[in-house]
Amino acid sequence: RKLGIALVGLGGYSTNQLAPALQETKNCYLAGIVTGTPSKAEAWKAKYNIPDKNIYNYQNFDQIIDNKDIDIVYVVLPNAMHAEYTIRAAKAKKHVICEKPMATSVEDAQRMLEACRENNVHLAIGYRLHYDPFHQRVMELGQNQVFGKVQSIKSHNGFAMGSGSSNSWRVDRERSGGGPLMDMGIYCVQGACYTMGKAPVAVTAKFGEVTRPELFKEVEQSISWQMEFENGVIANCHSSYAQREDLLEGTAEKGWWRLGPAFGYEGKQGQTSQGKMDYPNIFEQVKQMDGQAESFRNGQPSIVPGEMGLRDVKILMAIYESARAGGKRVEIS
Ligand code: NAD
Repeated sequence: RKLGIALVGLGGYSTNQLAPALQETKNCYLAGIVTGTPSKAEAWKAKYNIPDKNIYNYQNFDQIIDNKDIDIVYVVLPNAMHAEYTIRAAKAKKHVICEKPMATSVEDAQRMLEACRENNVHLAIGYRLHYDPFHQRVMELGQNQVFGKVQSIKSHNGFAMGSGSSNSWRVDRERSGGGPLMDMGIYCVQGACYTMGKAPVAVTAKFGEVTRPELFKEVEQSISWQMEFENGVIANCHSSYAQREDLLEGTAEKGWWRLGPAFGYEGKQGQTSQGKMDYPNIFEQVKQMDGQAESFRNGQPSIVPGEMGLRDVKILMAIYESARAGGKRVEIS
């Protein structure tokens, strides 16, 4: 049976990626929605044929516990709201998919994991790239040492934020937890970790210059950081809201690889020292949600579990700690 998913938060990502993807998934379907905006509820109900009994708002959301159509709650809200809605979904005995970054503090991420454990539900993070063939190849090249031991990693991810974004939650620290590092840099953190097959032991970081103070009052405009792995391998990373950048590279003893564009939804390209990477561009969110629904149905944890989300939040927080301390080396506990 197809598992029913309820999307919480009908913003850009739900509207343009997840809902269309849920029209193509085989193991799950769009069964319900949770929104604070009545006009969105009406529009989605008409477009996707969602019954009234599967439409919730933020106040009556907890009643979803009684709804047999909903197996999975997918949290697609501003970062700082992930914890509350993941915990409420877990208490309503629903499996949870939570968007990245999992949370805006280590404590929140831990509370989310605990709530899911206590209520016997699975928690997965919306890390779509684990389902993408280009990134799966990078994991294989790095982790299986196809070209020998990895020697260095480089990763950049960012976009130029429009001047009309001054009221966006992305530049509001309370709702975002931080700037481009939380939003885009997390892909570089992930890329370095899955190239190595492990977490770094320490990080160092530095905030970039603020050239648009009217927009970046509360969060960084850009940030560069290094992740240091056990065997001395360094990942050099950069993330920004000032320019488009989109890259994941690795060098090893006997070869190299490069994805660029690496992280967007479409148009990925890859090369290795042996030639072009020949993979199709797939609808990642279809594969991601089908994969997560299948693992939940089989009682298995997802390949991108909440524990991985927590690991990454710890790394993100260590990067900020280092940058605030002027580049001090911060060990990851
Ligand atoms: P968005 O601003 O387009 O949508 C946010 C939604 O949350 C809106 O529907 C808004 O009405 C609702 N909301 C409820 N309370 C809010 C509040 N207090 N302030 C602001 N909005 C509020 O954002 P988005 O781009 O859809 O991002 C949502 C989440 O999805 C974020 O955590 C983001 O990191 C993640 N995301 C992931 C990917 C990916 O590729 N995995 C891509 C985009 C976004």
